[in-house]
Amino acid sequence: MDALGDASDLFAAEHRALLAARAAHAAGPDGAHAALGELLAAYERLLRETRRLVRRSDRAELEMTQLNQRLQDLAGELQYRATHDPLTGVLNRAAIIERVNQLFARSGLTLIVLDIDHFKRVNDNFGHPIGDQVILGVVACLQQAVPAQGLIGRVGGEEFTLLLPHDDPESAEAVAQRARRAIEAHAFGLPDGSRVTASFGISCMPCGASFDEAYGQADQALYAAKRGGRNRVAHAGGDLQLHD
Ligand code: GH3
Ligand code: MG
Ligand code: MG
Repeated sequence: MDALGDASDLFAAEHRALLAARAAHAAGPDGAHAALGELLAAYERLLRETRRLVRRSDRAELEMTQLNQRLQDLAGELQYRATHDPLTGVLNRAAIIERVNQLFARSGLTLIVLDIDHFKRVNDNFGHPIGDQVILGVVACLQQAVPAQGLIGRVGGEEFTLLLPHDDPESAEAVAQRARRAIEAHAFGLPDGSRVTASFGISCMPCGASFDEAYGQADQALYAAKRGGRNRVAHAGGDLQLHD
């Protein structure tokens, strides 16, 4: 193969022109003019072809960058959908379980479980869409009540969890009462003017526990709150807090 490359390639004409120019140069000035003309034509074609290739490669690079961006957006969207509840935008059950178990690997935490009281009546009396609006209103109340480090999750139809990164029962109680009062006071705008309330169960557990243990305890406390008359907060293994 010649040092200039394989003559069968895209630039075969230029290659030939170069060989002819080289031969003309070696032979002296006589054949040089024709060879120069041929070389110029080949060089111009080469420039055109190179510009075309560069434009094509720029377009391909731009398309690749756009596709890559779209892929990243889709991956982000997929990740969001896999971890969030579509109605309310709070974390879904799987995401809450994962966060709780991650947190338990290095610290204690509080899990508050809450359930809307007599929610079936809202659906039965006013229909499912109004029920959905109540769920959204409850989440708005929770967002007001939960401190910045806390997380809100929807673990069932009308059942939510609040995850706090400490296992201090007093501040957990304060958060739960704030959320309970916010829901009780919220204007849900139901057609009959009735109010909405929720019951709360709190479980504070040390490092090394699991979601199932914390949830089981908080759920028992929640049902103690329901049995105690609803619209109240109860602690796992503790006395029912009757103040409301
Ligand atoms: P309690 O005070 O004991 O909690 O009574 P409740 O009526 O709230 O409890 P129950 O479990 O009987 O009813 C829950 C209802 O929540 C039943 C179900 O149709 C409704 N529900 C679950 N998910 C959704 C939802 O996404 N939207 C609406 N509108 N309703 C839902
Ligand atoms: Mg329920
Ligand atoms: Mg309920």
